[in-house]
Amino acid sequence: MRLIWLTLILLLVASDGLRAEELLQRAYEDRADTSTDAQVHVIYALPAGAYDRRLDVLGIIERSLGVANSWLAEATGGQRLRYDRTADGHLDISFLQLARDAETYRGFGGHIRDEIEKDINAAGFNHPRKIYLVYFEGKNKRTCASGAWPPSLPGNAAVLFLLTTFSKAPPCTRYWFTWEEPGWWENSAVHELLHTLGFAARCGQAGVEGSHVLDDSKDLLYGRSRKRGERFLDVDHGQYYRHGIEGCPDLANSAFLEPSSSPAELPPGWVPDKHCIYSGYGKRTCRDITG
Ligand SMILES: [Zn+2]
Repeated sequence: MRLIWLTLILLLVASDGLRAEELLQRAYEDRADTSTDAQVHVIYALPAGAYDRRLDVLGIIERSLGVANSWLAEATGGQRLRYDRTADGHLDISFLQLARDAETYRGFGGHIRDEIEKDINAAGFNHPRKIYLVYFEGKNKRTCASGAWPPSLPGNAAVLFLLTTFSKAPPCTRYWFTWEEPGWWENSAVHELLHTLGFAARCGQAGVEGSHVLDDSKDLLYGRSRKRGERFLDVDHGQYYRHGIEGCPDLANSAFLEPSSSPAELPPGWVPDKHCIYSGYGKRTCRDITG
């Protein structure tokens, strides 16, 4: 019986893979842009020697982020994150082979996101109107996901550490990408992107602790423990979405959402008229945009 199930699963995976493979070609660079607006570019990043699960070409990341964005549109009444897309409407995912191996990255402990941010920027992923969502086939010592948080930690990379294991807790690999209701990775992708856009900002009402909210454990940006289950976007409209606090960044106005409000807000501290290359640890080098 076990063999029959295994065969069935393998057949399903194989047929799905073949269908999807016809759909998506691996891209090693950012493809030609179809929009000049602020947008999120997705990278599937493989440390040296790591196993390539081909999450980019099998359509797995694209489907997962489709689910995540549908959830966001439902929560906002129609606003979604603007992703970098190809001319035929697919997600523009880049594959990046990193020069350093997973163990080297893991050795950076809490600074692994900074090191990955440095490497993707050095590899050319540093467009002045983009932030990057990196699916990293490696481990973090402490967490399954991490983002920048401007203005305290300027940056352009949110990273999902797909293979993190813990000594006293179940590994991140216990989660898989979902096709219908958002699950752990879908929620985490949006959670870390919101951090990288500067949310929750300190100026949100009482209940903000660092980049997280404290008032409802089902809030997408609740930070104390991130259990499975349904998530809500700023449950009481007090901290980061349609909060009505003058002068405080609001996700509803983010330039990275579509439709965008007018005028749209860039992340706090973003340098709009310069080309900035980030090197992790909140550091960046900005030059005038020419041509
Ligand atoms: Zn967080």
